[in-house]
Amino acid sequence: MGLTCPSCGNETGFLVKTLQTHVVQAGGAELDLSEQSRPAVLELLCDECDTELDLGALDPDLRREMILLVGAH
Ligand SMILES: [Zn+2]
Repeated sequence: MGLTCPSCGNETGFLVKTLQTHVVQAGGAELDLSEQSRPAVLELLCDECDTELDLGALDPDLRREMILLVGAH
């Protein structure tokens, strides 16, 4: 598929870390969620040895597919 850990050669399991922002309104009686951003991909790590893979160096199609897969943008 094109993903390979440069450190241990793992080609199957990877961790994708995302960051998501929520806007919470605190003016009323209860907290209210008014806005929620789509998560942004922060890091791609090997699941075997935790080596960070360079997202910018990924094949663009592969990167797009992965971003869609985790619901990010
Ligand atoms: Zn690895």
